[in-house]
Amino acid sequence: MPEGDTIYRTVRALEKALGGRVVTGFETGFAKLASVNDDAPLVGRTVERVEARGKWCLIYFSGDLILLSHMLMSGSWHIYRTGERWKMPRIKMRVVVSVGASSHSAGEDAKRRFPSGRTTKEGKAVASSGASRDTEGFEAVLFNAQVAEFHTARSLERNTLVPKLGPDLLGEGFSAERGVAAMREYAARNPEAEVGVTLMNQRVLAGLGNVYKSEVAFAAGVNPFRRMSTVSAREMEKMVEVAERYMQANVKDGAGPRGEVGEGIVTYSGPRRTTGAMSRGDRVWVYGRQGQECRRCGTAIMMRKQGEQARSTYWCPVCQPWVAAEGQSTEEPVGRTTVVRRGKVGC
Ligand SMILES: [Zn+2]
Repeated sequence: MPEGDTIYRTVRALEKALGGRVVTGFETGFAKLASVNDDAPLVGRTVERVEARGKWCLIYFSGDLILLSHMLMSGSWHIYRTGERWKMPRIKMRVVVSVGASSHSAGEDAKRRFPSGRTTKEGKAVASSGASRDTEGFEAVLFNAQVAEFHTARSLERNTLVPKLGPDLLGEGFSAERGVAAMREYAARNPEAEVGVTLMNQRVLAGLGNVYKSEVAFAAGVNPFRRMSTVSAREMEKMVEVAERYMQANVKDGAGPRGEVGEGIVTYSGPRRTTGAMSRGDRVWVYGRQGQECRRCGTAIMMRKQGEQARSTYWCPVCQPWVAAEGQSTEEPVGRTTVVRRGKVGC
């Protein structure tokens, strides 16, 4: 599943291509969407904004219509200039939203030349930056998605598919205070919840994925297997601060390591970075580094599956000391430090 920041980049690219523009065309392979469009056509409506809510993408059209899509493993939004050749076969198309030139077209913009759209490393989003983004139209194409629905503000509110999310780490109204309050409230109700699972819970804080879970816990010096009841207010603060910083840094890095995009529409999902280092091997503190030396203390990084979904969690047992909860065994959880090679038999 894509990380929250990948979704956010997709949403930002959609916002830049579609935002404020009038819909000139709509196509879909979903019968339900088609019938809504028959009754209340999309053409002529303005795209008001695009929003990320955890793993969900919401496109708001004027006249109280919201297109909701969930970015499952295979689903992806691509953005093309009008007439540009799609990079996926038409049969995989689920939704196409076409928009015309923006009303405030500028001649200067028309002269700019940006690289064409392409697939990100994870294959989740392709955003094409227009050669003349204000004088040309765009097509936003949703491929392979299994969930796409129209909603009104009211039906969305009632819809149980979209969970009521916690404060969005990348949302406009986010503040560390709000984030900490959400975490403290959750910890009070779920004292036995583990830190790593809590960080991934979108109802507590929206936006963190599996990579950042480990990175944030490391940077805050908190053992991801500790129960929330053992986590101090200061530690919660640290985790929220780090989470917000990492998410923002990685969204800003959307231009990619070579800075090839420049301003305008994001076309490249840059590699995740948390250590501040640029080279490939130094990008993360602990994620995916089991058995390797901790970048701070040299201890072997451990990995252990965590939570109901058995997601891999990485940590340094020295930098992230164990704190047992009351009545809990003082024996700290141990993880693997060796990499298991799949498909190899024998010694
Ligand atoms: Zn360490």
